[in-house]
Amino acid sequence: METTDVVIIGAGFAGLTAARELSRRGFNTIILEARDRIAGRTHLEEHLGRNLELGGTWVHWTQPYVWTEMGRYGIAAIAAPEFTKAYWSVEGQHRSGHADELMDLLDAPNQALLADARKYFPLPWSPLTNSEVTDIDGLTLSEAIDRLDLSEDQRQLLRSFWALNFNGLLDQAAYTQALRWCAAASGSWQLMFETCATFKIEGGTRRLAEAILEDSTAQLRLKQPVVSIRQDAERVHVQTADGQEITARQLILAVPLATVNDIDIQPQLSAAKREAACRSHAGRGAKLWIKVKGRQERFVAMGAEDAPLNFVQAEYIDEDSTTLVCFGPQAAAVDVTDRAAAQQILDSLVPGLEVLEIAGHNWVDDEQSRSTWAMHYTGFLSESLAELQRPEGLIRIAGSDIANGWGGFIDGAIESGIAVSRSVAQQLEETEKADLGISV
Ligand SMILES: Cc1cc2nc3c(=O)[nH]c(=O)nc-3n(C[C@H](O)[C@H](O)[C@H](O)COP(=O)(O)OP(=O)(O)OC[C@H]3O[C@@H](n4cnc5c(N)ncnc54)[C@H](O)[C@@H]3O)c2cc1C
Repeated sequence: METTDVVIIGAGFAGLTAARELSRRGFNTIILEARDRIAGRTHLEEHLGRNLELGGTWVHWTQPYVWTEMGRYGIAAIAAPEFTKAYWSVEGQHRSGHADELMDLLDAPNQALLADARKYFPLPWSPLTNSEVTDIDGLTLSEAIDRLDLSEDQRQLLRSFWALNFNGLLDQAAYTQALRWCAAASGSWQLMFETCATFKIEGGTRRLAEAILEDSTAQLRLKQPVVSIRQDAERVHVQTADGQEITARQLILAVPLATVNDIDIQPQLSAAKREAACRSHAGRGAKLWIKVKGRQERFVAMGAEDAPLNFVQAEYIDEDSTTLVCFGPQAAAVDVTDRAAAQQILDSLVPGLEVLEIAGHNWVDDEQSRSTWAMHYTGFLSESLAELQRPEGLIRIAGSDIANGWGGFIDGAIESGIAVSRSVAQQLEETEKADLGISV
């Protein structure tokens, strides 16, 4: 049986970052990745005549971890041009105007909803600093919105805006999750929105993921889904689907939260961890790229909160075509291969566009993700986050889904990879000293 210091399961940004940190500190590290590629829920691939990001894309300087990594490898950010036009619909009525008009309409309701962001999250990267967070963690975003004194137009727009941010339905969406995002953007919802969809990584997410991997001496093994993990007091034993076995001194489980329970882990993780993984999170929506005929104005469009696609943004504007990036709250409502259906959906949002081609990936049907970006349900923050971060014997969970700051983003994945690798390294160094009889 092969032995190593650390096995990392999952080569997304969390796993890659942890592997770089540990291998640079001299620990033998093996990454086992189920897919035939690295970078997990980010995936730059050629479609519609250009390289498109099918998953995670946007980054910002308010996100310290990813911004530092880009700086470290000399990778720049690309800015998007300003929007000039907007389409939106309220109570089934189509409206259009300058993009600033839509932002103005969203301003007062978001200000009201998020006014207490910094009160509850004075230190966003320590999200449980204010114990009062526990009192509001059971509140759904729907309930928080219903408490506001809003016109029907404002209420519908605000709900659609947050269904976009959650990439999911608002039923059990935690109000604290919305507050956390806003607090991480220093209490400004406009800065929060800019953070989410304005600046991209030059050369794409793949370039950053490859830079992190190349900076590490960890061994990467692709197409190696891990099926079982056994741990005893001193070692952890990992088995892959094709029967390979590796024994390690420490293990990092850097897989999406929604897939943790797919691996047979013995002794079982705590009931609280398993329940949190089973419930997972609300991010189960769609992202679709649509190429339409003609050079269009740079526009955004917002539809009803439960429309198959409730947000469209003109992303690439060429001479004879425009490529749109679109999001919807339910992956099941969007067939990423059905051009005719995409035309029908788009017609209900923006008049007069002719769909040429579409591209996308269903991350919810994908066994290696079963979800998109992590947007938590009520109770997750106060009941599950610390428990998921707590080591269980020689096993630690890592990943954006359980990050402290920008959880759900590439930034959160890197944050978590750094934090978990630090604690693994500390543990290994303490064990080595103890083995040598050096008191720690
Ligand atoms: C559609 C979409 C849009 C997004 N937009 C943005 C955005 O604009 N900006 C942003 O910052 N973030 C965005 N995100 C979120 C961001 O991509 C993720 O939060 C981040 O990439 C997660 O990194 P991770 O390492 O925690 O997990 P992952 O990237 O999911 O990596 C986990 C890895 O584990 C592997 N794995 C799973 N099970 C096993 C197993 N049993 N054995 C071995 N390997 C296994 C998976 O294949 C995967 O490679 C988006 C995500 C999606 C899906």
